[in-house]
Amino acid sequence: MTNDATRRTSRISGFHKLGVEERIDLVAGFADLEDEHRRQLARPSNIDTHLADHMIENMVTTIAVPVGIATNMRVDERDVLVPMATEESSVIAAVGNSARQCYESGGFTTSMSGTEMIAQIQLLDIPDPVRARFLILERRAEIERICNACDPILVSLGGGFRDLDVRLIGTDSGCMVITHIVIDTHDAMGANAVNSMAERLAPDIAAWTGGRTLLRILSNLADRRVVRARATWTCEAIGGAEIRDAMIAAYKFADNDPYRAATHNKGIMNGISAVVLATGNDTRAVESGAHAFAARTGRYRSLTQWEVTSGGDLAGAIELPLAVGLVGGAVKIHPTARALLAILQVQTAGELARIIAAVGLAQNFGAMKALVTEGIQRGHMSLHAQNVAFAAGAVGDEVAEVARRIIDRKSINEAAARAALVELRGPA
Ligand code: NAD
Repeated sequence: MTNDATRRTSRISGFHKLGVEERIDLVAGFADLEDEHRRQLARPSNIDTHLADHMIENMVTTIAVPVGIATNMRVDERDVLVPMATEESSVIAAVGNSARQCYESGGFTTSMSGTEMIAQIQLLDIPDPVRARFLILERRAEIERICNACDPILVSLGGGFRDLDVRLIGTDSGCMVITHIVIDTHDAMGANAVNSMAERLAPDIAAWTGGRTLLRILSNLADRRVVRARATWTCEAIGGAEIRDAMIAAYKFADNDPYRAATHNKGIMNGISAVVLATGNDTRAVESGAHAFAARTGRYRSLTQWEVTSGGDLAGAIELPLAVGLVGGAVKIHPTARALLAILQVQTAGELARIIAAVGLAQNFGAMKALVTEGIQRGHMSLHAQNVAFAAGAVGDEVAEVARRIIDRKSINEAAARAALVELRGPA
């Protein structure tokens, strides 16, 4: 396999059989990585103490999480190799396998609502909330000016204030007047950007209304930043109508039962959070947004939707808020995040979000298919068995052999792995 042969196609068979160095070479060739990024990928302990100490408080060390590449992804007619940071086995293989099964039918098609974030300003002690709401709405032009003046860089790049909303929320402590400012944060995730605007605006809102402002912070329910992806898997690629219909039944279960939906959506987030983390973005922001969005109808539901097409194929779709950026936060300063973003070859935060949504859909397909066929454990267990073998003290080639033995014995636990290791090493 040469770089030329695989240069722009994500359809790479046998990627998992290559050595780590060979994989890095292939990815670097695919994405024309600069030497600096190529070198960074080859350093598994890849963050300087000095940088880490400046990123958080009370830093003592770093914890490394493996980053793998999902192959076979085709998003909006472009092949992409997707870096995923995860400690959980089977996540990356599931995405690659699911993407392979829809590659020939066109891969993933995406869209998004925009890159707007919402910040909220809470106003209390208002005897006449209806009047206060109108007073704030009447100041729209002034609010726009105040917000935009906070971030001339963002405005110069085409972002800035977009919309204003004021909501009255009845609580058992009285009515609260909640102002929403809607800001296009462009290629930034935007939390700091919109928080600064909300903090700047709050005293004016208090002065205009005679009330008292309290919280001034973004909402992670970023429903003005909704990303959608869809794909079709042919009935043949799935393995027949029986599996297809079983997957529909699995989806309906999740969409109608929060106990199941929580795990269904957790599987989706296995894929999504892994790309969010690899690109230095805020996993908690994306996760809280996704789950709040899943409950937006008042009932916690599936983030995906599945249906059988008129031709008998399986069509899947995902829709969720994805507040991710290419600048700001850790994205720009973490050298590995920068190198991994370079692999994705995205120019805008929107493009990154679209790929992430596609990964979430692929993950959901893989999990549902495994669940309705062989069960989730088989795929999980081969890698899990290797982790157990490691934990039992196996090294080098022993790992695969101990894993094989405990799988054969259907006894995947540390005691069984220790016994297999003793057996393998023979008498001391
Ligand atoms: P930031 O303030 O570091 O960067 C954003 C700024 O970069 C913009 O305001 C703009 O001035 C500038 N910029 C330069 N080029 C830009 C471009 N192409 N597009 C847009 N802006 C550009 O970071 P941020 O994105 O405002 O905030 C993200 C960080 O905030 C993350 O680290 C996140 O973890 C953190 N955070 C999150 C929450 C939350 O989710 N609830 C709360 C507080 C902070």
